[in-house]
Amino acid sequence: MQEKVTCKNVEDPRQYTIEGSLKNGGYESLKKALSMTPDEVIDEMKASGIRGRGGAGFPTGLKWSFIPKISDKPKYVCCNADEGEPGTFKDRVIIEKDPHLLLEGIIIAGFAIGATAGYIYIRGEFFFGVKRLEKAIEEAYEKGFLGKNILGKGFDYDIYVHRGAGAYICGEETALIDSIEGKRGMPRIKPPFPAIAGLYNGPTIVNNVETLASVPFIVRNGGAAFGKIGPEKSPGMKIFNVSGHVEKPGSYELPMGTPLREIIYEHAGGIKGGKKLKAVIPGGASTPVLKPDEIDVKMDYDSVAAIGSMMGSGAIIVMDETSCIVKSILILARFFAHESCGKCTPCREGCTWMAKIIDDIEAGKGQDGDIDLVYDVALNIFGKTFCPLGDGASMMVRGAIDKFRDEFEHHIKNKTCLVAS
Ligand code: SF4
Repeated sequence: MQEKVTCKNVEDPRQYTIEGSLKNGGYESLKKALSMTPDEVIDEMKASGIRGRGGAGFPTGLKWSFIPKISDKPKYVCCNADEGEPGTFKDRVIIEKDPHLLLEGIIIAGFAIGATAGYIYIRGEFFFGVKRLEKAIEEAYEKGFLGKNILGKGFDYDIYVHRGAGAYICGEETALIDSIEGKRGMPRIKPPFPAIAGLYNGPTIVNNVETLASVPFIVRNGGAAFGKIGPEKSPGMKIFNVSGHVEKPGSYELPMGTPLREIIYEHAGGIKGGKKLKAVIPGGASTPVLKPDEIDVKMDYDSVAAIGSMMGSGAIIVMDETSCIVKSILILARFFAHESCGKCTPCREGCTWMAKIIDDIEAGKGQDGDIDLVYDVALNIFGKTFCPLGDGASMMVRGAIDKFRDEFEHHIKNKTCLVAS
């Protein structure tokens, strides 16, 4: 069994306290990092090969190395704890059960890039998580892990918790930054990228909770130890969330590259009630659906991309034979139409029209040509928007039509669902 990275101590009931964390080696990696140079810490991150766990999969060490060494503006670390993707609940586990692990990662990241402060942008609905984080921050200040002259090493650093108001788009890094600044959360035009002009115009890195919570392991064991887990191009451990029609839905931290079939049938206990598998969304709402004959795919960025989908955040949504694909896709299409921030026309108008047409098809009011029409709308969104939300909505709809066109046709022809017939 591979040693866990971010969930190693989450079963310990006292891990959320500073005493529990220290008992299990909490902040030892911070001590080690502060005895290294910032460049050495970044080198370990690069050696680990870790790619951002929020969904985009960008190499974290490389992202940190983009921050200019000298800046006339303060530098910042933003932790993306927005976790708004339907089916994703991995960061919550870390926030609620091991908040000090996350704080340690954010402090080390701040030291590595020369930041003065870190902001945790957390989903407003995570009341309990906010409570846990605020208490953990208080404890970290008391122990000298935050504040002035941390551990006597001359490093000053503060962490703030910023609650969002529940907009999915604020998981996009520049919308997140705008939201912290008190503006309406909408993606910025890039360049400039946050590494050059991010929060309050200062150089900024934005990393996901799981990514930052992996940092203490990498510093403690060396980047190579992390890099040798799983596939060479997508190494490390990863939390997979399994929801839907499985016997044991939940969070499973496993090596990258674990086959999807193994995750569903061994770790999550198989399909609920012994029913047949119909479809799997492999990485959150925006990732194209897979059919049962595709689940031998290895769960890493490149393998899932090779079969035309994405690993995204690792949120696996399982649907059994009783699921109506049209209805399921309608729910997601409505979600994207609601969450589109409205900045660009193809996404704002296109997502709304996709939801409207699929709504008609699902309700038995679809007409001949509607499937091609919705497909055409989806194609006209893809690649024409400021941020990936539009692309995600487009891929999700096109993927469902490509794989389950017969279900859409049945709805139009028979004015009812294939599953109900
Ligand atoms: Fe906003 Fe959608 Fe455009 Fe993204 S793609 S900026 S969510 S309108």
